[in-house]
Amino acid sequence: MECEICGKAISDHPKRVKIDGSIMAVCDECAKFGRIQKEPPKPKFRKQNNKNKNTNKRQNRRNDEPQEELIENYNDIVRRKREAKNWTREQLGQKLNEKVSVINRIESGKMVPDTKLIKKLEKTLDIELLETYNTDDLKQYVGTSGSGVKLGSIVKIKRK
Ligand SMILES: [Zn+2]
Repeated sequence: MECEICGKAISDHPKRVKIDGSIMAVCDECAKFGRIQKEPPKPKFRKQNNKNKNTNKRQNRRNDEPQEELIENYNDIVRRKREAKNWTREQLGQKLNEKVSVINRIESGKMVPDTKLIKKLEKTLDIELLETYNTDDLKQYVGTSGSGVKLGSIVKIKRK
């Protein structure tokens, strides 16, 4: 192998340098004239990937998992609605296929019903016990309406 600049014989590993925009295999001495080419920095690339992954994760959580929470006074709602229907705790228990002790504890607020039981309560009593939190969506709406004005003025500027 010969140096592409001076023609001197190079033993094993020629230096790869960039000279005037082209990459050349050269000897040690000629390497001084150009910039030594290196492999693209891999750690940096990997870091960027992780960053993208995190972003996606955050977006997925925001879009796919709306936060549903049991309302604070669920026990009052259950009790009032049951009384409005003139059902005893025993009757409600039978309809839900739950023990009376479960109804007692739910109505006294000592027991937080699980999702399955919440759904049964909602259906049987015709009530809503879950609140959906969408604070992120709210922020997005505000952002959209705010930038709408700006977008309009950009279009106007471009038309000039
Ligand atoms: Zn050379």
